[in-house]
Amino acid sequence: VELREVQINDIIRDVLSFLENSIMYSKINLVLRLEGGLPDVYGNNVQLQQVFLNIINNAIDATPDDGNITITTHLLAEEVQIIIQDTGEGISKEYLPHIFEPFFTTKETGKGTGLGLSITYGLVKKMGGDIIVQSHIGGGTAFTITIPALGKNE
Ligand code: ADP
Ligand code: MG
Repeated sequence: VELREVQINDIIRDVLSFLENSIMYSKINLVLRLEGGLPDVYGNNVQLQQVFLNIINNAIDATPDDGNITITTHLLAEEVQIIIQDTGEGISKEYLPHIFEPFFTTKETGKGTGLGLSITYGLVKKMGGDIIVQSHIGGGTAFTITIPALGKNE
């Protein structure tokens, strides 16, 4: 795959324009807090789209009408941090350690393959990044992704 300097905010906007209809249809409030002047990261556009598409699609699935999905980006030390937070059903303590495993799904047959997060995890790690999840039942879910930022002269 081709790696180049990419701008995370642009990728998130691309993914959101792609998801516009399903977000509108579900009546979820989308809150965007994308920091301006964010440095680029070194990565692949298609792979990064896949990462955000998987996580945002899961958030849409989990969040009821009138719930919120908040997407925040900012620079933290030398890393670009992306937080995707929803006010959905949350994940039980029992399931939480398994969500990145291939084929783990709590969705009805035909509605989920259980592959989204395992692919996402692999892609983020391959970029030298990290992904963590915080969630509890009734308290929503937050995925935090960190990806090394490129310096001004890179
Ligand atoms: P799939 O979406 O096909 O089920 P994923 O790998 O994308 O597979 O997600 C695995 C499981 O993790 C989901 O079935 C669900 O139980 C849980 N999950 C992921 N994201 C969320 C979320 N935002 N809120 C609640 N549960 C989630
Ligand atoms: Mg999924």
